[in-house]
Amino acid sequence: MTRVAVLGPSGRMGRAVIAAATGRVDLEITAAIDRAGADGLGAEIVPGVRVGTDLGHGLDACDVYIDFTTPAATRAAAIAATPRMRAAVIGTTGLTAADDEASAALVQVAPVVLAANFSLGVNLVLGLVRQAARVLGPDWDAEVVETHHHAKRDAPSGTALALARAIAAGHGSDYERVKRHARDGDIGPRPRGEIGVSTVRGGDVVGEHVATFFGAGERVEIGHRATSRTIFAAGALRAAAWVVGKPPGRYDMLDVLGLA
Ligand code: NAD
Repeated sequence: MTRVAVLGPSGRMGRAVIAAATGRVDLEITAAIDRAGADGLGAEIVPGVRVGTDLGHGLDACDVYIDFTTPAATRAAAIAATPRMRAAVIGTTGLTAADDEASAALVQVAPVVLAANFSLGVNLVLGLVRQAARVLGPDWDAEVVETHHHAKRDAPSGTALALARAIAAGHGSDYERVKRHARDGDIGPRPRGEIGVSTVRGGDVVGEHVATFFGAGERVEIGHRATSRTIFAAGALRAAAWVVGKPPGRYDMLDVLGLA
């Protein structure tokens, strides 16, 4: 039985993870840690487990922690998990270079699954987009459009960035040199090989991503629509059950799904 600590249990994803874990026989939630002042502190989310704020206690009580929180909280958790050599499943997006450093230290001593998107469909789409970019080449203008609910804080979404990087990989280009995250004013003609990423925010949209390749006289669209957070939660639990006992290192969902 894999013991799981959930960080951010009162959040949209934290609640989805707890709901998806209900009834599973291969893992159990043994800790739930949120920030001071969060909704739901003290609530009993499963029998015998109440939401608390003691991160060290939560990490000591689990084999793996699942983290869908904020970049600052994810950094703090990775720093606390490193001396404990604790396995992790990290889904927080919008991570900065400093946050990446904290998780880079953790992956030296523990197995960690990091994914901007835990759905099977999106991970399939990542492979398809890369293949399309390789076949079509940079003469086909590539653009990614993402749409999310109005409470989402980071932009572009981590999944949109992963898709754009998959296109760059297919083109054999350096994403940092060809990316275009916003357009405004007199922008001139579109440079060959540029990869555009556009953000739309509104309502309660769980997550939509479309990669379009514009050719001369035709276009190819490859997209994904999430209609429920259950897909991300189920993927994160699958990753948690998979990652415990693996050698230290950084893994992604393609590793978990056996598609790497
Ligand atoms: P949310 O705002 O609903 O929830 C965030 C939770 O983190 C809250 O419970 C908050 O109190 C908690 N939190 C904040 N600081 C904390 C701390 N120091 N310690 C513990 N908990 C803390 O957000 P959400 O919609 O659930 O999304 C969370 C993150 O997951 C975002 O970065 C989002 O982009 C990402 N996300 C990833 C995937 C994926 O598949 N990888 C899918 C959906 C969302």
